[in-house]
Amino acid sequence: MPTAHAHSHNRHDHKGMPKIPGWLTVEQALERILSCVSPLPAEQRPLLESLGQVLAADIRAPLDVPPHANSSMDGYAVQWESVRHASARRPARLRVTGTLAAGQAPSGAVAPGTAIRIMTGAPIPPGADTVVPFEYTDELARAQRGEPVAREVAVVAAPPSRGANIREAGEDIARGTTVLHAGTVLRPAEIGVLASLGMIAAPVIRRPVVAILSTGDELAEAPAPLAPGQIYNSNSFTIAASVLRYGGIPRVLGVARDTLDSLRAKIAEGLSADMLITTAGVSRGDYDIVKDVLMQQGEISFWTVRMKPAKPLAFGALQTQGPDGKTRRVPHLGLPGNPVSSLVAFEQFGRPAILKMLGKRSFAKPVIRAVLEDDIVNTDERRVYARVSVTLRDGVACARLTGPQGSGVLTSMAKADGLAICPEDTPVLRAGETADIQMLDWPEDRFADPLRPTRGGAS
Ligand code: AMP
Ligand code: MG
Repeated sequence: MPTAHAHSHNRHDHKGMPKIPGWLTVEQALERILSCVSPLPAEQRPLLESLGQVLAADIRAPLDVPPHANSSMDGYAVQWESVRHASARRPARLRVTGTLAAGQAPSGAVAPGTAIRIMTGAPIPPGADTVVPFEYTDELARAQRGEPVAREVAVVAAPPSRGANIREAGEDIARGTTVLHAGTVLRPAEIGVLASLGMIAAPVIRRPVVAILSTGDELAEAPAPLAPGQIYNSNSFTIAASVLRYGGIPRVLGVARDTLDSLRAKIAEGLSADMLITTAGVSRGDYDIVKDVLMQQGEISFWTVRMKPAKPLAFGALQTQGPDGKTRRVPHLGLPGNPVSSLVAFEQFGRPAILKMLGKRSFAKPVIRAVLEDDIVNTDERRVYARVSVTLRDGVACARLTGPQGSGVLTSMAKADGLAICPEDTPVLRAGETADIQMLDWPEDRFADPLRPTRGGAS
């Protein structure tokens, strides 16, 4: 576990100061957090509920997909020898002996000079080696003449190649092969692959339960009216929604007052979770009380991270007894109280911790380069995460500040789709310069395929 960092400096005297020993970089803080969380055990989940989760085992195919050779076109199943010399001038005439729809089993075989009318997905009857699509025959012409079901079909065009329009058994997945590997994130396509094997559940790494606790005497819970001096608790909601969004199961514990008893009781409620996230109470002014309680439960470190917003951060491990009587360590992430700070810090530290518990291997948000349309000023050598909205202008990504950047201005996050990063050692990034943008979302309305205009053009 990391050791506690002593706050020897006042929180207001850092302006213009160089790097302060003991401050952590974002990477150092993240590394310490990730070293304390591990992937969770596996469980079986119904297929649809496993969306976004990580496969816990290799999947071997118990059957061929498709299970039988079948037609990829509507047409006639034939022996290629019967049609190989067909042409418009000298069509091959075949006797039609039956019809096969998808889902039917073949009842007869194809012999030289005969054909079975076959629909897409229907099994290839014995004897046939090729499917002649309707387009190669007089099928359409006969239909236009209003003739009933064909007794005889004429292959009028050049014949297809031998074996054409047949999907072989096992063409997609051969029985016995490993079709998906442990560690794969299940998207709709993978879930469909599992369904095609007849599976109804998948072995996946279980989702972490994340307990969320807001602390502060000023916090009111809607729908109760606000008393003088109160604000509504928003952090519980932004953090719970974030946990849900990234695959965790939020368990909202509500609000703890700034008293030992209240905190102790609420934290005890969170101990059965896989992780506890608290907000507020980590800045110099009031961390003592949180610290007192957490020290009794386990270890806690209060960090100063070289980032803006979200400089103060706490991280620790709470000790508790699991159902098996063994000691469990529950990682605890203490986010700052300011709504923007807590959300930005969650994105940098909480999200990766959840992804690691989910068994994912890549934790970084996507980063793009964009041209800034505003200056970003860095006053004290921290890494600045500026809230920006990103637009494609003639194919070039451009980023504009979403307005006032105070760490209490939560609407600056609501308007943002990315965080523009001004590095620690860069005093200012000017408008016109290019910056890394950590994308919080992908703004589909502004990043839509330019070949398919969604505005002003044909729909
Ligand atoms: P603190 O970290 O306790 O100093 O809180 C910093 C700021 O964040 C204060 O203005 C608090 O009122 C505000 N704050 C703390 N917790 C919440 C919360 N759950 N929802 C909204 N604002 C909060
Ligand atoms: Mg407070």
